[in-house]
Amino acid sequence: MSTQESVTVTVTGAGGQIGYALLFRIASGAMFGPKTPVRLRLLEIPAGLKSAEGSALELQDCAFTTLDSVEVTDNAAHAFAGTNVALLVGARPRGPGMERGDLMAANGAIFGPQGSAINAGAADDVRVLVVGNPANTNALIAAAHAPDVPAERFTAMTRLDHNRALAQLARTLDVPVASIGNVIIWGNHSATQVPDVSHGVLTASDGTRRPLPDALAEALGGSAKVAAWLDETFIPRVAKRGAEIIEVRGSSSAASAAAAAVDHVHDWILGTAGSWTSAAVLSDGSYGVPRGLISSFPVHSRDGAWEIQQGLSVGADVHARIDRSIKELEEERDMVKSLGLI
Ligand code: NDP
Repeated sequence: MSTQESVTVTVTGAGGQIGYALLFRIASGAMFGPKTPVRLRLLEIPAGLKSAEGSALELQDCAFTTLDSVEVTDNAAHAFAGTNVALLVGARPRGPGMERGDLMAANGAIFGPQGSAINAGAADDVRVLVVGNPANTNALIAAAHAPDVPAERFTAMTRLDHNRALAQLARTLDVPVASIGNVIIWGNHSATQVPDVSHGVLTASDGTRRPLPDALAEALGGSAKVAAWLDETFIPRVAKRGAEIIEVRGSSSAASAAAAAVDHVHDWILGTAGSWTSAAVLSDGSYGVPRGLISSFPVHSRDGAWEIQQGLSVGADVHARIDRSIKELEEERDMVKSLGLI
């Protein structure tokens, strides 16, 4: 996709909270840059159509110069016809008394048909980001229903976890977020995710680079203190930040999730310019993650494709955590397989 041509973007669950924070940023040029016109397709279930239609009216009123058109529909075939970027946000939340299998089955009924509609009608270069939870496994379901689309084009969002990790580190070290690099989120977008700072780098304003663990040791008073801080504070804070937001805000995170979706697609298409980030992508067996799972890795993007950052040494403690998260992904995959969803 050349960034001067217009881009068709489909957002599912567009009438929801994340949709409301996401649509305006896409339309304003934040996702593809200020020179790329965007055609937005908002897909909703009938109960969500009015909300999406209201957002479409507000989008008109913003008079964004990068917004070509907005359509609202409850027809998946229409929503995905010719789409270049599909943002699958709408998902079935876990209701009271709902078992994990029920949740998977409900989401299979959403993401399977959406995968089929993408397969049938999306543009040849379609890229898919799944936000709706359980995001990794929902991406796996959608990919399984789109045999003609390269499976690498189905991804799930761990960028919010990545951004949360950067923000916690910047606050702890009292440095700008932009000075921190090479942080990783491994595994599932769930409580088992593995935020990993062991390859992190801190770049000072004079360009000097130093390992993040050293900077943390200096700030916290030694490497033993760093280990305890990572274990007791940093990792749980990042992994459970969603719950913290709900407790304080009274509803789930939306603007930060939308911002992370913008970052993910922006970097996927426009490239990461020599740095890394985190995204849940199809495993090719790297780092012992079984092929075919959609798991979070350190990634960079070149020529519009994510590539897993290779050759990093992974310590035993981080490896043990990754193994736990991968086991959970395998269990989710086995469950959707046994339900006939993939
Ligand atoms: P949100 O817009 O707040 O969330 C949408 C999805 O994003 C949920 O699955 C949510 O998971 C997930 N999510 C992923 N990361 C985050 C994060 N960091 N913070 C918060 N959420 C995250 O939900 P709403 O209920 O406001 O809106 C959903 C819309 O989707 C509704 O308008 C509804 O009509 C539509 N919908 C469409 C369906 C379909 O396409 N068939 C089916 C069901 C709903 P989690 O639940 O775990 O927080």
